[in-house]
Amino acid sequence: MIAYCCDGCGKEMKKGDLRYTVRIDVRAAYDELEIGLSDLVRDYRAEMLALIERLRHKDPKEIEETVYKGFQFDLCPSCQQAYIRDPLRFHPEQGGEPDTEIDIDGFLRSLGIPPDENDDQRSR
Ligand SMILES: [Zn+2]
Repeated sequence: MIAYCCDGCGKEMKKGDLRYTVRIDVRAAYDELEIGLSDLVRDYRAEMLALIERLRHKDPKEIEETVYKGFQFDLCPSCQQAYIRDPLRFHPEQGGEPDTEIDIDGFLRSLGIPPDENDDQRSR
């Protein structure tokens, strides 16, 4: 039974297959706040009203995304290899073979995660 699709290459993954989750938070960055005398005497009310007027006809989702946008992806082992090598220029075809010297499946089984019944059909 197909439980997940790799968001990198589209490979179908069954429940119990090794997969990776990538969570990305894109947030607006702010410098440390420094308050001076000029900040204390500024007319914030007028600035706020002007800002509200400028935002009035904008798409709320677009405005929200200028401050925060989150993503979550599922990756197969091959795409995970490509992703961690160069996260900002990730291409699934750069994945190659997962490192077979490290038996991650064996490790997961030792934690009590059931082995995959159709392991021999898994593409390597
Ligand atoms: Zn993939």
